[in-house]
Amino acid sequence: MTSTTVGGHVPAPRTAGPAPTGPCVLLKHGEVFLKGRNRHLFVERLHDNLRVALRGVGGSTWIKSAQNVTVLGGEVPREALVERARRVIGFNSVEPAVRIPSDLDAIVAAVVEALSGAEHRGATFAVRTKRRDKQFPLTSSRVDAQVGARVLAALPGLRVDLARPDVRVTVEIDRKETYVSWDRLPGLSGLPVGSSGRALVLLSGGYDSPVAAHRAMRRGLACDFVHFNGAPYTNPASVYKAYALARELNRFQPPGDLHVIALGKAQKQLAVAGAGRLQVVAQRRLMVRTASALAARTGGEALVTGDSLGQVASQTLANMVAVDEAATLPVLRPLLGREKQEIIDEARSIGTADVSVLPDEDCCSLLAPRRVTTRAELPQLRKVERRLDLDEVIEALLDETQVMRPGAEEAD
Ligand code: ATP
Ligand code: MG
Repeated sequence: MTSTTVGGHVPAPRTAGPAPTGPCVLLKHGEVFLKGRNRHLFVERLHDNLRVALRGVGGSTWIKSAQNVTVLGGEVPREALVERARRVIGFNSVEPAVRIPSDLDAIVAAVVEALSGAEHRGATFAVRTKRRDKQFPLTSSRVDAQVGARVLAALPGLRVDLARPDVRVTVEIDRKETYVSWDRLPGLSGLPVGSSGRALVLLSGGYDSPVAAHRAMRRGLACDFVHFNGAPYTNPASVYKAYALARELNRFQPPGDLHVIALGKAQKQLAVAGAGRLQVVAQRRLMVRTASALAARTGGEALVTGDSLGQVASQTLANMVAVDEAATLPVLRPLLGREKQEIIDEARSIGTADVSVLPDEDCCSLLAPRRVTTRAELPQLRKVERRLDLDEVIEALLDETQVMRPGAEEAD
């Protein structure tokens, strides 16, 4: 492992050089490692995001770069480092570890220490060595055997099971230092947030759009959010929900902005213009038009929605086509082929379900006709829209937009 400390764009809160021995965390790179010549750019982005995730962790930290692995340590409890690192998109696994000199006695002592809690349980173990420094005097399998034998002598309550051990201890030997780890927690994998560009997510209060945002982030899109509420005709419950959802989502990325737009009056204008059964689709078209104009100001290159094909009447193919026609940016729909239950399960696992389940007054139900059309007719929609001065309406909506950055205060 070459131990160059990577300088990045984002300054860490306080940094100190790594101590020669001590606790650390190994972060195994995900898809980044498939990247060819640009790999260093992805790794820099990954480390920038890690530094942001470490803000406010309560002590100095350091990051060391190696091939397909990042080593993280600092004057902070290891659990806190693990917890922060597991939110960073782009690591396949997060492994609590200890850093020691590359010396057989030190390795044995570290493995004994790692396994001493397991001894009284009569647990089984296996040692797996990776030797990145081929000058180390023993081959990997000799290290496995010698360490295994000496651990058994020190902790006779343990048993070896190479096939299905209770504890798999990994020894990674580099030139100067060696890392011993005994646990492998799954990371979020995916591409580092920001490596694919920036997007604006249409965030409602439901289950779908937060999950869509999380999927977009895992494909490397840094996300800002826009929420439309029915003010002045609805209560602010949906805004609180959108704020709480954006805060949850911002845990996984350098925090993005939430824009809140009061759509109520414009919705009334569409109704007065005779939208009738097209009201919901007309509103959706106004949302993507406004979001496209907003994205031009926030640097967004695409819109993201939580649509899933055919899930509800407003999400038929014809209606999606009508919505796309109104957007001036591509509309990405990461959940297009997903079923509702899958989406809800995913919302639970990323932590947005508890917010999505809360009641609110969705602006879409304001002025919604009893039966939503499933086959939006474009000529009819255009006719309704011509009765409004759309540019003026959008300008007015953007002028009154409220901007906030949920969760940023926690990171500072
Ligand atoms: P969700 O669970 O995300 O609310 P949904 O199943 O309720 O979605 P729709 O109400 O048809 O579906 O909305 C489809 C998509 O349109 C949403 O996923 C979201 O991206 C966007 N959207 C709907 N309402 C709003 C809103 N009030 N503000 C911002 N985006 C919205
Ligand atoms: Mg909804």
